[in-house]
Amino acid sequence: MKLWQFHGGLKLDGHKSLSSESQIRRANIPDFLVLPLLQHIGEPTETVVEVGDKVLKGQVIGHCRGKDCSLLMSTPIHASSSGTVVAIEDRPVPHPSGLTAPCVVIETDGEDKWIECTPVADYSTLSPTQLLYHIAKAGIVGLGGAGFPAHIKLNSKSIETLIINGAECEPYITCDDRLMREYPDDIIAGAQIIRHILGGTQRCIIAIEDNKPAAYQALLKAAAKDQDIEVVLVPTRYPTGGERQLIQVLTGQEIGRSELPAKRGIVVHNVKTTRAVYRAIQYGRPLISRIVTVTGTGVEKPQNFEVRFGTLMHSLIDQCGRNKAGIERLIMGGPMMGFALPNEEFPIIKTTNCLIVSSAEEIEEIPKPMPCIRCGACAQVCPVNLLPQQLYWHAKAKDFQKVQDYHIFDCIDCGCCAYVCPSHIPLVSYYRYAKAEIRAIEQEHKQAELAKKRHEFRIFRLQRDKKERREKLQKMKAASNASKEAAIKAALERTKAKKEQGSSNEQK
Ligand code: SF4
Ligand code: SF4
Repeated sequence: MKLWQFHGGLKLDGHKSLSSESQIRRANIPDFLVLPLLQHIGEPTETVVEVGDKVLKGQVIGHCRGKDCSLLMSTPIHASSSGTVVAIEDRPVPHPSGLTAPCVVIETDGEDKWIECTPVADYSTLSPTQLLYHIAKAGIVGLGGAGFPAHIKLNSKSIETLIINGAECEPYITCDDRLMREYPDDIIAGAQIIRHILGGTQRCIIAIEDNKPAAYQALLKAAAKDQDIEVVLVPTRYPTGGERQLIQVLTGQEIGRSELPAKRGIVVHNVKTTRAVYRAIQYGRPLISRIVTVTGTGVEKPQNFEVRFGTLMHSLIDQCGRNKAGIERLIMGGPMMGFALPNEEFPIIKTTNCLIVSSAEEIEEIPKPMPCIRCGACAQVCPVNLLPQQLYWHAKAKDFQKVQDYHIFDCIDCGCCAYVCPSHIPLVSYYRYAKAEIRAIEQEHKQAELAKKRHEFRIFRLQRDKKERREKLQKMKAASNASKEAAIKAALERTKAKKEQGSSNEQK
């Protein structure tokens, strides 16, 4: 198959052998699960349980705010083991902002008892809409890291190319590699379900970086029975696993900045998401766990775990064994796109793919940032063809209009620019800061706009009520006057009748 190349990118040391050879292990059930009510891109869920409630594994604890979750940019949250709800409160959640968010805390009972699940006997008999409903109810989001609700992305028309992303290009992370080696049949079955949902006519490509030969062989074997699925090796180059970069490598199509791949008839799903779709349909199982790589020199045995959401990170690190040298830094995600956490008391959520636990010996001292020398190295490696140094200057100057003019929201936070910067400028931190500020300003504007609309509606409502009251009063007055007039008229007529009666009696 002919392959193309995207602009920029980097050849990085993989560090994957640290964890790539150990089989996926089921992590222990923790004593407490801390489940944030928002673990995806979109609207948060609202809790449907109360403190003291007993819950079963797979039971909905956070419901989408609307009647039909398959139509909403949201997904439900499920209990990841059975137990009792002991708190519903704000807890620290793993996010670069370091903020807290509403969480449901469950004390597990050790029974790990499932709620009754409803598998689909034969998915080919169901319509795409019916299958999307099952997927939405199962709480499936993109497990490659973005957390975009899967049912929204799957609800695409006229798709010709389905790409299953097994590139896993960031150093240290091996969860997709292990998944492809251990569960290739699940991935193929998931790809077949997705093809059915998308109309069944499209080409299906499973893309794997060429530094994962065992995963490639496993999927090649599993896909042998299905002529419509191609398994393709792509060159190892960071960030090949980025959605647009992978599309370009496989199809040669460069998806424009504000364009959606679906508009070009292409949709990309991660291998983990594909397996989650299979499990939701085949077994009726909601998404309550995921595979997480725990690696780095801070742990004795780096490995991959199937982990229940809500498990606190310290428990996973304990299960790997702590290195005597101690832990100096904890990163959620990879070394390029991940972010540092201040401690281990954060829960694993749907978007946690990796924990890099580093000891002091692994951490190189970060050189002090120096002024930009306008060398242009950052622009050469940017896979999105941006001008990172311009973005940096304007972000530093807090000129948020200019950073938008330079397309900051096309930046995928890949970190290539910061990696090559000879002045050691933490470029991505500036971009994240600028993006957060712009979003906050937009949010403020939205709220101000909403407040203005509310105020205008209130004035309109008050005036309308006043007018209605006035009209009502006038009607009542008119009615009362009319009845008075009628009474007077009736009285006059009675008097007149009496008089007439009296004079006729006199004449007699
Ligand atoms: S790589 Fe660093 S020093 Fe060079 S232009 Fe970019 S920001 Fe400036
Ligand atoms: S972090 Fe953004 S600006 Fe820097 S190389 Fe990646 S996409 Fe380009």
